[in-house]
Amino acid sequence: MSTTEPTIFERIVAREIPADVVFENERLIAFRDIAPKAPVHLLIVPKTSEYTNIAELAEGDPYLMAEMVTTAADLAAEHSNGEYRLVFNSGSSAGQTVFHVHAHVLSGNLDESSLAG
Ligand code: 5GP
Repeated sequence: MSTTEPTIFERIVAREIPADVVFENERLIAFRDIAPKAPVHLLIVPKTSEYTNIAELAEGDPYLMAEMVTTAADLAAEHSNGEYRLVFNSGSSAGQTVFHVHAHVLSGNLDESSLAG
């Protein structure tokens, strides 16, 4: 349990604020990004708040990281043509705004503007 203010994703996991949820299991939740940068723009978020970024998750729970990747492929197949870009922004200067590890799944006729996730 974090001692800092809950992030927006922690509040979505707790269902304190609404989200357009497309997938959920015991460890992960996935929902549509509120400001999509691609025709399909989903966020995959571990339910645990223990990890801030993908490197921390890789070190602490590589199985969960792998599950995020396989879930991304499944969701891209379900919501688009199975081809996708997977983005993990790590650090504010790299565009990270929510410090609870998450994957951006971008799919459907991508251009350079969707590189940032
Ligand atoms: P980051 O910039 O940290 O890599 O990604 C955070 C993402 O969360 C952004 O793409 C932003 O649009 C999305 N986001 C921020 N607040 C909300 C929210 O309340 N609901 C949803 N669905 N997405 C959000």
